[in-house]
Amino acid sequence: GMWTVDVDPSPLAALAAQLDDVAERRFTAGAERARTLLAGRRVWNVSATATGGVGELLRTLLPYVRDAGIDARWLVVDGDEQFFRIATRLHHVLHAHPVDGGPLGAEEMAHYDRVLARNLDEVRENITAGDVVLLHDPATVGLAPELRRRGAVVVWRCHIGTDAPDGVTDLAWAFLEPSIAQADRVVLSRATYRPGFLDAAVVRVISPSVDPLSAKNRMLEPAEVEQLLQDAGLLAGDAPAGAPGDDGGPPVSADVPTGATMRAGGPVPVNARMLLQVSRWDRLKDMSGLLIAFDEGFDDLPEDVHLLLAGEEVAPHDSAAAAILADCLQMWEGLEPAVRSRTHVACLPLVDRERNALLVNALQRRAAVIVQKSLAEGFGLTVAEALWKGRPVVATAVGGIQDQIADGTNGLLVKDPTDLHGLVAAVARLLAEPAFAEQLGLAAHDRVRRDFLSDRHLLQYVDLLDELL
Ligand code: UDP
Repeated sequence: GMWTVDVDPSPLAALAAQLDDVAERRFTAGAERARTLLAGRRVWNVSATATGGVGELLRTLLPYVRDAGIDARWLVVDGDEQFFRIATRLHHVLHAHPVDGGPLGAEEMAHYDRVLARNLDEVRENITAGDVVLLHDPATVGLAPELRRRGAVVVWRCHIGTDAPDGVTDLAWAFLEPSIAQADRVVLSRATYRPGFLDAAVVRVISPSVDPLSAKNRMLEPAEVEQLLQDAGLLAGDAPAGAPGDDGGPPVSADVPTGATMRAGGPVPVNARMLLQVSRWDRLKDMSGLLIAFDEGFDDLPEDVHLLLAGEEVAPHDSAAAAILADCLQMWEGLEPAVRSRTHVACLPLVDRERNALLVNALQRRAAVIVQKSLAEGFGLTVAEALWKGRPVVATAVGGIQDQIADGTNGLLVKDPTDLHGLVAAVARLLAEPAFAEQLGLAAHDRVRRDFLSDRHLLQYVDLLDELL
């Protein structure tokens, strides 16, 4: 059945202290307003995953909500393999990128409804009239009709979408429409994601955010970065005994729970300039496309540049992710030795979340250039995380990435995600022009400070609930 992710409070005051005076006062007043609004109510968040962007958002926002004295909770839906296959299919199709080509018909709908109903049965006595429920993504919106019947206030928070809907996305919307129609409000990451049948009056557009104080984003000194990455075996150096070697030899698999698992290429040499993409192993992140771009553009890049593809350790039941990772590893095997010796694939263990986040943080701070070569992206937290760290970023101009990067001002955009040459040219430019790269990085950090931190995000939720309750 549904399981609960425990959320410990994290001091709102510490976040407020990061803000300028005006923002701080606004934020503190917002927290007070939320406390009053939500007194005696529970605020449930229901998601289908505790990882990826949604997991990241809930893990960073809910501790502040709890510190405001609000009874915020987080449930994760439990389902069988078929349920998650349907959920992933809906996800890809709403991104206008059907990956498995499978159906979304009556049979899938029946299974989807059955699994969600079973999940709800197990928390029946808990979610009651007057409670607020935020349903995250297509996988959970099917709960809306029953929750409404119980008198809960229901918000559907959809983190995905496409700027160019087609016949295939219409299919997914048709699948979800009866459920979405029961939500009191729908929150989207971009205005362009609104399906035709939804009245603009029920839609609110709210961008995601990054938490400047989390393990993923907090300041790390260069020495700390070096230490973290070397200890984890991601960077060659004084690696502890048992960590993968630094000979760039065959794939090493080390079951060190707090370290990284180099799946190919061994650790990145300490004097290399690192080109980095951090992503889930999902087709839409196009890790293999980046590998091909690096291979094809190899001669246009300086000799000290190494590519690192870093993703989460693949869960045993996640065959889709395992297949994407296997693709990358197979491609790596087929690279010419010169390219292979400068290409690395790593999985970051999830057993210790704090540690995982710290490693992502350290990698992003250590990277010379960060790439996000997504084919579609609802928002792209990895981009916001990279911008926050003042890194020069090259990303494809898809979905929410366009809301974060103004091309040539705080990063570089590649218009066409299939333009491998354009991608490499942008990377090469940033490596060749460090002053330009630094200028982009400074603007990047400012951009995130102004628009994409947790305080703005939380305040928008307070405004939304203010209008609903
Ligand atoms: N992430 C992580 N560890 C990893 C790989 C990814 O913590 O090994 C995080 C990443 O830092 C980001 C989130 O997963 O916070 C991914 O969010 P994004 O919006 O970029 O994409 P999504 O996974 O939601 O499609």
